[in-house]
Amino acid sequence: MVERAESESRKLLGRLRDTMASQAAGQERLDQITHLTADSMGTEVCSIYLFRDEETLELCATQGLNPESVHQTRMKLGEGLVGRVARTGKVINAADAPSSKGFRYMPETGEEIYSSFLGVPIQRLGEKLGVLVVQSKEAREFSADEIYALEVVAMVLAEMAELGAFVGEGAALQARHTQPVLIRGVTAQEGTAEGHVWLHEPRVVVTNLVADDPEKEHTRLTDAVENLRISVDQLLASASGDTEQVQVLEAYRMFANSKGWLRRMEENIDRGLSAEAAVEKEQSDVRARMLQATDSYLRERLQDLDDLSNRLLRILTGQGHQTGAELPENPILVARNIGPGELLEYGRQLRGIILEEGSVGSHAAIVARALAIPLVINAKRIQNEALNGDHVMVDGDQGVVHLRPDDTVVSAFRDKMAMQAKAQERYASIRDKPAVTLCGKTIRLDMNAGLMADLPSLESSGAEGVGLFRTELQFLVRSQMPKRNELAALYARVLDAAHGKRVVFRTLDIGSDKVLPYMQAQDEPNPALGWRAIRVGLDKPGVMRMQLQALLRAANGRPLSIMFPFIAQYEEYTAARAEVDKALAREKKLGNAVPESLEIGAMLETPSLAFACKKFYEDVEFLSIGGNDLKQFFFAADRENERVRRRYDTLNVSFLSFIEDIIARCKATDTRLSFCGEDAGRPVEALCLAAIGLHSLSMRPASVGPVKHLLRRCNLDDVRKVIHDARDAGEQSVRPAVMEYLRGLS
Ligand code: PEP
Ligand code: MG
Repeated sequence: MVERAESESRKLLGRLRDTMASQAAGQERLDQITHLTADSMGTEVCSIYLFRDEETLELCATQGLNPESVHQTRMKLGEGLVGRVARTGKVINAADAPSSKGFRYMPETGEEIYSSFLGVPIQRLGEKLGVLVVQSKEAREFSADEIYALEVVAMVLAEMAELGAFVGEGAALQARHTQPVLIRGVTAQEGTAEGHVWLHEPRVVVTNLVADDPEKEHTRLTDAVENLRISVDQLLASASGDTEQVQVLEAYRMFANSKGWLRRMEENIDRGLSAEAAVEKEQSDVRARMLQATDSYLRERLQDLDDLSNRLLRILTGQGHQTGAELPENPILVARNIGPGELLEYGRQLRGIILEEGSVGSHAAIVARALAIPLVINAKRIQNEALNGDHVMVDGDQGVVHLRPDDTVVSAFRDKMAMQAKAQERYASIRDKPAVTLCGKTIRLDMNAGLMADLPSLESSGAEGVGLFRTELQFLVRSQMPKRNELAALYARVLDAAHGKRVVFRTLDIGSDKVLPYMQAQDEPNPALGWRAIRVGLDKPGVMRMQLQALLRAANGRPLSIMFPFIAQYEEYTAARAEVDKALAREKKLGNAVPESLEIGAMLETPSLAFACKKFYEDVEFLSIGGNDLKQFFFAADRENERVRRRYDTLNVSFLSFIEDIIARCKATDTRLSFCGEDAGRPVEALCLAAIGLHSLSMRPASVGPVKHLLRRCNLDDVRKVIHDARDAGEQSVRPAVMEYLRGLS
């Protein structure tokens, strides 16, 4: 019985292949497929429904239903049995369809005479394309073999659609990947870019779906799986110590040795598929399960299995990273996700980045920000929709992607880019001028940095120095802990590149969202409030000592500024400072040069430090408000959580009053104060901070121009009055009042 089913399946596939090879036009091919499927399955009806838009299915070919209804009958996603198959991605097998839940009678098709119904989704790697249906008068359930056979036909249809086999008139038969698509994601780095898609992991295209010689295909599959196992073992051997990667690879190894996985693919070959089509069929099933899975652990494992199938497909087809394709002009990288190291390899040649997943605090986002490359994350479907070389426009300000944009979008977008370019010119013209307000106050503008790639911006942005050098970025982009000498050489290069301008090195700020791949990840219920930054540094001082030594040696007699992150109480500052003193004494003892001057400050990122005793303020040499963290703790709103992170305005009167209080404490003790969170780089926020008395701001290099431009046009006394009046009037945020003031500027 099984053998009969296999030979039937092979026969059907053979006939499908002939259809694919024929010169027939798109519609004719679809018609042929419905004929031969109905014939082979012994049903009166076979119909193909394809999506004409995201919400609507259209009957595109039929054997057995009224031919007049082709391209006329349409249904919404979820409507009727066909719509349900499309929505859920699940097979419906009904012996008595008209009495099934959700059945919808379509008089124009003449389908009331058919009792049994079998519908399977037409999908390619999780992307929904339509529904394939067979119906018959006899009231019977279809067997597992019949379901399988129809699924295989659906898969072949999906592949043929991908290859453009059904292109014809009408929306549902439009060539795939030719229409404009607008995808709304989330902003991770502002800016706009126009260019061409570069797929980080190009899709593997399977062209030989059907095979005549199952023996040969079995051998190909066995060889490929063996290769895969060897490569996973090799990766595992080289990944020792890297727990997270080891865990993923262990899962890969388990799946690669799974008999069930191999057996399912072998069965696919027995039924007439080529080895690669057999892998892809299994992968499609996994993706369908992935879409249904609600349990995150299960979803992750299915994701592993999906990655493994991709590797196997690359081995079988010889397609993959090195496809020989040239990076297009103005490349815009498209990927599901990407590691910081890989992103750095591409470097500044990228014009924009679009990720299907990712998060604002991810390392890739950190690197994209450092490189000032517009980045949109959570861009759903981009991997399925985009082809290498497609024209694409990235609006990092709005978090929007225009793929294959039409002319009106192109011209509107180019206008926006031209306006931004004009603004850049304006900023360049004041680059060497100070940020002096109309009332004569000079505001110091520094830049934030963390990679060598940032340093050229010190010159081009007009920043006075580096107010925050995030040293953890160097740790994050590596696969193993950097050595002291490497770090010393790197910090020395940073100081060289700064040409005597002040650079404030912040010691390692890890934990929370910044997890080093080579350090054991902590399983904490609430990482943002957990073992992070200086807490790690003081509890396990080995790395901090190594870093302090590297900094002292890098300075090699030059002035040095060190800042400790996430100090929550006075005692943490004194303990960290004691480590510097110890390191300094050690260097002296070794006869090494000590810095000409050494200043040691702290980041004020927790409300507790704001209320530290006067002695702390007198003791600390400088303070920098880490507004990103301070704000999240002040409002109890997670900076990583999209649902709440923008809920509270920085210009909320409570927050501004809090900052004013810190400024007053610093004034009373003559403590230098700056602000280095993201808000320092937002012109309106920066203006308000300056107006309430914060006269030193550190920001992304790209923000220095816009902030300076606004400051030079404003009178801080006026802005301060606007802020205080709004607060006295009981406003929640001073933003509307400040915006009103700005509109009144000439
Ligand atoms: C901050 O918290 O504002 C800050 C500058 O540090 P990071 O964003 O690196 O946590
Ligand atoms: Mg912080």
